[in-house]
Amino acid sequence: MEKMTIKDVDLKGKKVIMRVDFNVPMKDGKITNDKRIKAALPTIKHALNEGAKVILLSHLGRPKGEPKPEFSLKPVSERLSELLNQEVKFVPEVIGEEVKKAVEGLKEGEVLLLENTRYMKGETKNDLELAKKWAELADIHVNDAFGTAHRAHASNVGIAQFIPSVAGFLMEKEIKFLSKATANPEKPYIVILGGAKVSDKIGVINNLLEKADKILIGGAMMFTFLKALGKEIGSSKFEEDKVDLARELLSKASEKGVEIVLPIDAIIAQKLEAGVEKKIVKVEEGIDEGWMGLDIGPDSIKLFKDKLAGAKTVVWNGPMGVFEIEDFATGTKEVAMMVADITEEGAVTIIGGGDSAAAIELFGLERKVSHVSTGGGASLEFLEGKELPGIASIASKKK
Ligand code: AMP
Repeated sequence: MEKMTIKDVDLKGKKVIMRVDFNVPMKDGKITNDKRIKAALPTIKHALNEGAKVILLSHLGRPKGEPKPEFSLKPVSERLSELLNQEVKFVPEVIGEEVKKAVEGLKEGEVLLLENTRYMKGETKNDLELAKKWAELADIHVNDAFGTAHRAHASNVGIAQFIPSVAGFLMEKEIKFLSKATANPEKPYIVILGGAKVSDKIGVINNLLEKADKILIGGAMMFTFLKALGKEIGSSKFEEDKVDLARELLSKASEKGVEIVLPIDAIIAQKLEAGVEKKIVKVEEGIDEGWMGLDIGPDSIKLFKDKLAGAKTVVWNGPMGVFEIEDFATGTKEVAMMVADITEEGAVTIIGGGDSAAAIELFGLERKVSHVSTGGGASLEFLEGKELPGIASIASKKK
């Protein structure tokens, strides 16, 4: 069902409490990447231009329910103020008298940021007392924090029990694109999975077996599957306790007519370090003990390119190798370029959050794909077909 967005409500003179994702990386009290703050600007600016009084809520890091200065949002208020080119009021409290007073003093078009929601124990427990206190500050709730949508917390889910919750622009875009892959993907629908852990992605693979035409698998994940097929994988990283499951997934895929494409060669080395000796080895020939696969090889890149041709919907989640080290980044880079190329040919392409989002940015291709998700865990759960609590709590449009 279609969700209500910030565009569907009258904001003039309204107090709007907005859950954003300001969970930015920090070092020594300084923000090292302000991308998430910038990403929230369109929704904040829209509310301010419409004459709303904006109260912002966000978490930062994991202070575990108590105030810890290193997780303060104060530096974020300063950066936001620069980006908005207007004063951002900041209260070093999450709730209480000081907060109430600051909210009462807000004029139309003014913005206030409260302290880290996770300073309160009730936040991650979805405590309704806490949610109610936040709700009492405002007339309407705007949810623009897709990254936490897979969690039922007080500031995104609980609060919607007391005041109506609508989606911000970021949330709206995430739902729009991820639904393209889950609801009625235009076919052929091809998924590329990588990264280290099969366990994180089992739910997705299971769901994809009902929907996707092909699943291309790289990253350390490939070795759990290759092991299941009886290949010698040397000292490559794999999940011993997931080998049986990988075997089951392979046979289920063949029953369902879903093609699982595994790499045919790999880049191997004896150490996970830059500048070490590396070799290309055919998967058929096996990897010797002491050597580990750290990237997909050139023939696999060609194979993946062939398999991807003609795709109309593509989802990519997880790097093809240890892309953080340049020597093992080629597979990931080539896949990123393939996804960019196929976008140009008219496919809808979606990059899952986390490492694949980091990779696509590293290669400067984020504008060449249809959508880069801001939520790692949230996008995976969405693709699993689960209902995310932080989306379910947003009001639906009346028919
Ligand atoms: P995940 O969080 O499961 O998506 O895993 C991402 C991580 O997997 C990245 O940090 C990669 O460096 C790592 N990775 C990818 N391929 C390999 C590999 N062949 N061996 C070890 N680690 C890998």
